[in-house]
Amino acid sequence: MANNIRTDIHAVNETAPYTAMTPGNAVAGGGGAREFKTGEWRTSTPVIDWDKCNQCLMCAPMCPDSSIPVEDGKRLDFDLDHCKGCGICVGACNFGAITMKEGL
Ligand code: SF4
Ligand code: SF4
Repeated sequence: MANNIRTDIHAVNETAPYTAMTPGNAVAGGGGAREFKTGEWRTSTPVIDWDKCNQCLMCAPMCPDSSIPVEDGKRLDFDLDHCKGCGICVGACNFGAITMKEGL
């Protein structure tokens, strides 16, 4: 089926009419998740101890929200605009470099 949805996701806010919304469950286009800071859903936040991190990169592919960016073969700090605080990365790290703290 051709993707003929033309919804401008930047126009979707609390004052938008229903005509600005996508039909239920329809994806308006690729990459839209980056436009929304869904990290505010978190109730706990991962924290990295850079002294313990040896850049093995086991954590990055385990994150279901792609919130562990990797650049030039090294992981960077968490993308807290999108991290949901699930804690999966804590279990993925065999070096105890990631812990969770309460709150955002
Ligand atoms: S807490 Fe969950 S969402 Fe956040 S970086 Fe870790 S694995 Fe990803
Ligand atoms: S799994 Fe742990 S040691 Fe490996 S890159 Fe991630 S935080 Fe660093």
